Amino acid sequence: MTTLADAARSPLLQALKPSPRMPVLFVGHGSPMNAIEDNAWRRGWQTIGTELLARAERPQLVLCISAHWLTRGGWQITGMPAPKTIHDFGGFPQALFDQQYPAPGAPVVAASLAKELKSPTTSAPLSVDLDTWGLDHGTWSVLKPMFPKADIPVLQLSMDYSRPASEHYALGRQLQALRERGVLIVGSGNTVHNLRAMRRDAADNQAYDWAVQFDTVVQDQISKGQLDALQNFQTLGAVAQQAHPTYEHYLPLLYAAGAARTSDSPRFFNTGYQGAAISMRSVLWG
Ligand code: ZN
Repeated sequence: MTTLADAARSPLLQALKPSPRMPVLFVGHGSPMNAIEDNAWRRGWQTIGTELLARAERPQLVLCISAHWLTRGGWQITGMPAPKTIHDFGGFPQALFDQQYPAPGAPVVAASLAKELKSPTTSAPLSVDLDTWGLDHGTWSVLKPMFPKADIPVLQLSMDYSRPASEHYALGRQLQALRERGVLIVGSGNTVHNLRAMRRDAADNQAYDWAVQFDTVVQDQISKGQLDALQNFQTLGAVAQQAHPTYEHYLPLLYAAGAARTSDSPRFFNTGYQGAAISMRSVLWG
């Protein structure tokens, strides 16, 4: 259990200060086991984390948009001082349930961000969640290998799953300005995610044709800076349906792409597939 005492050991962030522009990340998280297995994906996250911490300015705050926090009728932002580590999965070894990521929250910053960001649906401020959520595995499974000291405050932003892709992208665009205030935006999902089609015996370079086809379109659009086009993924029809029977794992990409600028050159890492039906493609912009 994370306690207030844990959070008190790291001073809580009271305000965001101007900083050189932070990069933006989209991370393919795949299986929760990637959090504890010594595999290529986890090593890729460790490498990116080391690289980010080696920059002259480290992030003051991480704002994570995870595939696993869906709300309806509005967007929420976590506002507790010590967000709990949520083990939102079943059927995995105890070692995974034993994982904790005691990064502090930033209640004052969360309250001000909730007022500053506007719902793309109603233009109303966002809501602050004080007791429901915390850090789900879409967030901690990737942040723990990246920033193992858990000393950078983390906020999560939910996704209003009742709203169209265009609104998720629009909210991502609002996040752009936060990059000049030391915020590392992290979208955590997968560019292809079809659990029912997964084949556990498949190698990292094996994938279904439809998975490769969809992933290649995403890669092309990102490479060419056609970030606006990413929100129209459903126009790909059957291929999009197969790549995302439900699309909560795709939407975090729209927040990260929204926060990126066409002038930020993208760099892909962790390209490859897990179980032939999950693309682990991750992107660092800027
Ligand atoms: Zn997931």
